[in-house]
Amino acid sequence: MTATHVPGAPSVEDGQLISTNPATGAEVGRFPVAGAEEVVAAVDRARAAAVWWAGLGFAERERRLLRWSALIAHRITGLAELIRAEGGKPVAEGVVESAAAIDHLHWAAKNAKRVLRLRRRRSSVLVAEFSAFLEYQPYGVIGVIGPWNYPAFTPMGSIGYALAAGNAVVFKPSEYTPAVGAWLGETFASVVPEQPVLQVVYGLGETGAALCRSGVDKLAFTGSTATGRTVMAACAETLTPVLVECGGKDAMIVDTDADLDAAAEACVWGGLTNAGQSCVGIERVYVAAPVYDAFLQRLVDKASALSVGMDEGADMGPITTPAQLDTVRRHISDAIDRGGRAVLGGPDAVRAPYVHPTILVDVPEDSAAVCEETFGPTLTVRKVSSVDEAVELANAVRYGLGGAVFGKRRAMSVARRLRTGMTSINSALTFAGMPSLPFGGVGDSGFGRIHGDDGLREFARAKAITRRRAPSLLPSTTFERTPRQVAMVVRAIRLLRGRAR
Ligand code: NDP
Repeated sequence: MTATHVPGAPSVEDGQLISTNPATGAEVGRFPVAGAEEVVAAVDRARAAAVWWAGLGFAERERRLLRWSALIAHRITGLAELIRAEGGKPVAEGVVESAAAIDHLHWAAKNAKRVLRLRRRRSSVLVAEFSAFLEYQPYGVIGVIGPWNYPAFTPMGSIGYALAAGNAVVFKPSEYTPAVGAWLGETFASVVPEQPVLQVVYGLGETGAALCRSGVDKLAFTGSTATGRTVMAACAETLTPVLVECGGKDAMIVDTDADLDAAAEACVWGGLTNAGQSCVGIERVYVAAPVYDAFLQRLVDKASALSVGMDEGADMGPITTPAQLDTVRRHISDAIDRGGRAVLGGPDAVRAPYVHPTILVDVPEDSAAVCEETFGPTLTVRKVSSVDEAVELANAVRYGLGGAVFGKRRAMSVARRLRTGMTSINSALTFAGMPSLPFGGVGDSGFGRIHGDDGLREFARAKAITRRRAPSLLPSTTFERTPRQVAMVVRAIRLLRGRAR
């Protein structure tokens, strides 16, 4: 029988975490809450599994991970429906999310050996009698803590790359999306049944905190900046290295030579996909004065055509967490109170559990709607006199995750000047689906990288090896060197490195 609970609010009953649909309150599943002891036990099991998994080598791990990605690909619509059941986003959005997750997993499996394997590095003249080798070895056990907004795609950026690098993983999904976490764990276990290489532990924030202190060899956290700080502090107690992927306040810049239809289309999707609950969602728009009016009209036209609800064809679903509704409401009201205008939506657009598209103009740059992560389907749009001003304003917040530029002549130079980890030119958010590119932020958006070569190296430690291949002409690393040899070292270093060029 399907029980009904408070929409959007997960609860714990008899040690079971109950996951519900944010719009209807329909129960999606129950999952055992792991306390600190259970988390430590999972990490202990993972330690043995990690040795076995690393011992399989690149080729066998690739084979297993490709089977996993193929399995997810075959069952993609089931995964998208589960994402919808638990988070509320439309199935089409869940499909797009899942497809990106699958592509990343496939890429990580295919590229791990190329990026991480043992390879020779060049020697230097002064130490030419030694060969140099480098490889990237797995850490062992990686703890992964994920958010609810992209419950398959976001954790896969850590899980897929950590597994491909040869680690075992203990994954704590958000309390809002445990069923998606369970689905990932179960499908993985069907292609790797021998050992618990990927385990899922469920619970509230305390379970995540326990994972930070459980003795994992690295902790990959994705979530809010505030929790990121707490996670770092907990990991600092045991010098556990951390990867911290946090929030954003991404800007789009529209230059005078932009294709305005394309810019408006990308802005609407980039800002309002997943009801605006995207770390790399567009939240601020800076538009060159000559094209401001034409762009804004297109933006309003396109955004007002979107449908909101839980119907089959709806473009936007509910706000997943009740607390987020309050934040979105506060940002909109503050913007209006401080002189801003809603050209679409406004305070009335917040109709729990939904928020309808809202476009705000004339909002002061120091207001919450411009400075803080809103995480809802709202956009602030501002006219600028030049792209230089746009870049300055875009860079003026503490976050630095992604962003977008629309234009032709100056687009690449503007993209490079944005103080963010990623920028897309003439599209929105497309860097996230590009497996060959690293993903991560600067400032309050965190540090470290998932995806791409950097994302694989993030889950491995560099191991350097030197091997003697000939006797030393200028022995220096021995007490048996003679004063004459030391004098020769002095001459050699002056000869070789004594010039500024
Ligand atoms: P939270 O920071 O609230 O939670 C993230 C995860 O941390 C959840 O699994 C949560 O568990 C867990 N957690 C909570 N408290 C602790 C603690 N003390 N110690 C360890 N873990 C803890 O973020 P949200 O889930 O609300 O996700 C939204 C945020 O994630 C937004 O800021 C968004 O920008 C960011 N994000 C960043 C991405 C990036 O790649 N940079 C990608 C996607 C989202 P529980 O849910 O059980 O409380």
